[in-house]
Amino acid sequence: MKSTRQLLLEWYRANRRDLPWRRIHDPYAVWISEAMLQQTRVETVIPYWERFLSLFPDVASLAAAEPDAVLGAWAGLGYYSRARNLHRAAKLVAERHGGRLPDTAEGLRELPGVGRYTAGAVASIAFDRPEPVVDGNVARVLARLHGIREDVKLPAVAARLWELAAELARGPSPGDLNQALMELGALVCIPRAPGCTACPLRRRCAALAAGDAESLPVKARKPTPRAVEAVAGLILRRGRVLAVRRPPRGLLGGLWELPGGELAPRERPEAGLRRALRERTGLAIAGAERRGEVKHVFTHRSLRLHVFRCDTPEGRVRLRDFDAHRWLAPGALAELPQATLTRKALTLALSSSAI
Ligand code: SF4
Repeated sequence: MKSTRQLLLEWYRANRRDLPWRRIHDPYAVWISEAMLQQTRVETVIPYWERFLSLFPDVASLAAAEPDAVLGAWAGLGYYSRARNLHRAAKLVAERHGGRLPDTAEGLRELPGVGRYTAGAVASIAFDRPEPVVDGNVARVLARLHGIREDVKLPAVAARLWELAAELARGPSPGDLNQALMELGALVCIPRAPGCTACPLRRRCAALAAGDAESLPVKARKPTPRAVEAVAGLILRRGRVLAVRRPPRGLLGGLWELPGGELAPRERPEAGLRRALRERTGLAIAGAERRGEVKHVFTHRSLRLHVFRCDTPEGRVRLRDFDAHRWLAPGALAELPQATLTRKALTLALSSSAI
């Protein structure tokens, strides 16, 4: 009888998707793909990965890049700390390792932003190390295969999943084996209506035998994201608009946006805008025209952003909570690295614009 390992490898070799990072054997390219793929779908990642690799083809070029250029190449992918960490890690690899990525999971984990999953993925795929990976797809496959009916976020259950993955990774082609598990979770053992009839593991799957595959894995309910109201203003002065940059750490760190801030409880948007701009940019606006609102859900926050256009009299910008500002032609603002939320707000603020 074939082992689970063999079944997975055979299935993977016959069914794997032709993804661009699978066509080249370059540890740096694998690392970038794994950083981008966290929390993000493959189809979304492909164009970003291709552009990123054409701008920064190796560790040296990424290490030498300006922070704005790196964030600009990442803009729209979300979870921006990943880009900042990649940049810091590339500098460290250039300085300490002569531009070559460490070839063990332990060595990789010393780099900023590289956790157990990324270290295991890069070490196994790029360096053939028998290191396990457990991401959402792998956890689902293993929980169903072994009939694990406890919350997979519990530390003891997570530890068991890592052990099961480690048993499978041991042996030849650990990189293919890990990718087989991930690919099976992405294509066949999907959250709803898994394709069990096409699954190479169907004859040994505990959840299929018990008829409860769809209810696995068990996950504690995530808390509902906190509802937050905020304001942003397109501030005009002699045909130029004000852009501000967030400090490097924290949510959306290093990205440019329209100035504004969160509303206090029960604060009216226009009053909140005047207060936020006074406190955070030192500017008193003359008038504000509401342009509409945009919504965006972050991991822990569900944001409603009220967008305004305002004129401001003379006065020096004095920043609080931001670390840089620029007065720019409206078209130039879109060139700065910015989050999807800012892009939406900017489109709204500039729509039917005569500026
Ligand atoms: Fe998932 Fe079904 Fe395969 Fe079990 S048989 S691993 S539930 S796809």
